[in-house]
Amino acid sequence: MGMTRRTLLSGSAAAGLLWTPIGRLADPGAAPPGFPAGIAHERRTYANWSGETVADDVWTAVPQTPADVVALADWAHGQGWRLRPHGFKHGWSPLTLAPGDDPKLVLLDMTAHLTAMSMAAPDQVRVQAGASMEALLTFLEQNGRGLAHCPAPGDLSVGGVLAIGGHGTAIPADGETRAPGTTYGSLSNLVVSITAVVWDGQAFALRTVSRGDGAAAALLTDLGVICLVEVVLRVGVNVNLRCLSRVDVPATDLFAAPGAGGDTVDSFLHQAGRIEVIWFAFTTHPWLKVWSVAPEQPLTSRPALTPYNYPFSDNIPRPVARVAGAIISGQYYLAPVLGRLQFGATTAGLTASLATDLWGPSKNLMLYIKPTTLRVHPNGYAVLTRRADVQWVLHEFTAEYQRLLQAYAARGRFPVNGAVEIRVTGLDDPADAEVPGAEPPLLSAVTPHADFDAAVWLDVLTLPGTPYANAFYAELEAFCVARFSGDRALTRVEWSKAWAYTPSAPFTDQTMLSETIPASFGTNWDRAGTELRALDPHGVFRNAFTDGFLAE
Ligand SMILES: Cc1cc2nc3c(=O)[nH]c(=O)nc-3n(C[C@H](O)[C@H](O)[C@H](O)COP(=O)(O)OP(=O)(O)OC[C@H]3O[C@@H](n4cnc5c(N)ncnc54)[C@H](O)[C@@H]3O)c2cc1C
Repeated sequence: MGMTRRTLLSGSAAAGLLWTPIGRLADPGAAPPGFPAGIAHERRTYANWSGETVADDVWTAVPQTPADVVALADWAHGQGWRLRPHGFKHGWSPLTLAPGDDPKLVLLDMTAHLTAMSMAAPDQVRVQAGASMEALLTFLEQNGRGLAHCPAPGDLSVGGVLAIGGHGTAIPADGETRAPGTTYGSLSNLVVSITAVVWDGQAFALRTVSRGDGAAAALLTDLGVICLVEVVLRVGVNVNLRCLSRVDVPATDLFAAPGAGGDTVDSFLHQAGRIEVIWFAFTTHPWLKVWSVAPEQPLTSRPALTPYNYPFSDNIPRPVARVAGAIISGQYYLAPVLGRLQFGATTAGLTASLATDLWGPSKNLMLYIKPTTLRVHPNGYAVLTRRADVQWVLHEFTAEYQRLLQAYAARGRFPVNGAVEIRVTGLDDPADAEVPGAEPPLLSAVTPHADFDAAVWLDVLTLPGTPYANAFYAELEAFCVARFSGDRALTRVEWSKAWAYTPSAPFTDQTMLSETIPASFGTNWDRAGTELRALDPHGVFRNAFTDGFLAE
């Protein structure tokens, strides 16, 4: 607050690897012509999570009410400006701002005022789009309610998470049946009704669409091209979770070929249904988290009284920061050292913070990433497959990842210095919303496919700007698209992460953008494009990237 551009930039440099919040610019300049009276607005600097998208001097309005968003949309339409809603700006893809965006663009900061929430029914919460996921989960907990899984950070907005079809990690364990009010699919699949700012033929207006109305399907995961102001979500009874961390299972066991037996990811999914694997580059043993539903506190568990119980991962230990800094300044060959240091910090940190075996209300176990964590670039895919083939996907993917890592290293190249992250969810079964006539979110990465019932979420992380990373990502993406296709699997992109790589940059592979990604959604793609366009025919809520990308 009150930050000048100079302090913002020097602050970023000092913070080095950390995410830096935007600052206000010293010179606010002249307001856009005819700007609606009474709506706060100023010029700000926009920076996404990794700092790979930064824009100076972007007009940012701070709507106080849904009616303010309508007034802004009418103003923008009349003046030939565009609007882009934003939440916490914690993403990577060019959905908010994109290269080539016209400067006649106003960002909408949804997080300042549009944060109200209330219980609409015992199993339904009404929440405005700018509320944070942590505030929502806290409110639900106070009302005895919760989600089956959710994204790991708390500082994501509900609107931002719905726009990209956010997820955590959960499939049914052996013998488990879905609890009413929950889903193993994305957060978008819990929507009961949605209120958005749409074109009504003459002007913009607020429209509330029930999940049972065919118009809802495109809005549920809308990539931010229609502004959501409020949703009602179905919610379940809150449960207690236990989370066990393991660092003693070798990657060779976790990712063994299907049928190998022993400590495979598949075996942990059978036991508990909820896993995350974090596998630092050039190490042999991943950090495996296994969550299970545990009504009573197990004898050996430490109670988790608050979220964010892995301080060693949220506050970068000094040796890790030092090596990461050296890598950023050009010593890329230190990637194996960084991997080993991160694994060591994890092992030591789990013990020192008594975090190996945690138990508590679901929110405290499902939120575990703070904005102070290491700032990295991820690719992101959801590989849809049959539950029985999850281990096959993991075996194939990790074998190719290792092959590429070693092949690059043999040429003295170290494009990956972060971790592989793996989670598994179900798909968006629309019956979970318990609304007659409900359809799945058309553009969710886990929108159902007739052959499949599970999704393996795969991310590979590296420090922004690491040489050869884009080439590596392009090769790995080509592998995924080719191998995970046909009747055994299907590769979809994870909207919030990075994809469509060429060796020079993400979001630039024209075949991915214009053919592969649309094809991965089948007929949903054209239908969503047409319906979203009809709700905003003048493209007021679009940007240069979505203009060319979405179907018309
Ligand atoms: C460290 C880190 C960890 C993450 N972990 C997970 C995870 O575990 N699971 C997961 O699913 N995702 C995860 N993400 C990705 C995150 O969920 C998405 O990037 C999400 O969109 C960010 O929310 P935001 O509020 O910051 O939205 P922004 O980044 O500000 O916006 C993202 C998109 O949402 C749109 N949008 C924002 N508000 C609205 C609105 N009211 N109406 C319509 N569109 C809107 C924007 O226009 C933009 O297109 C993670 C991100 C980070 C940085």
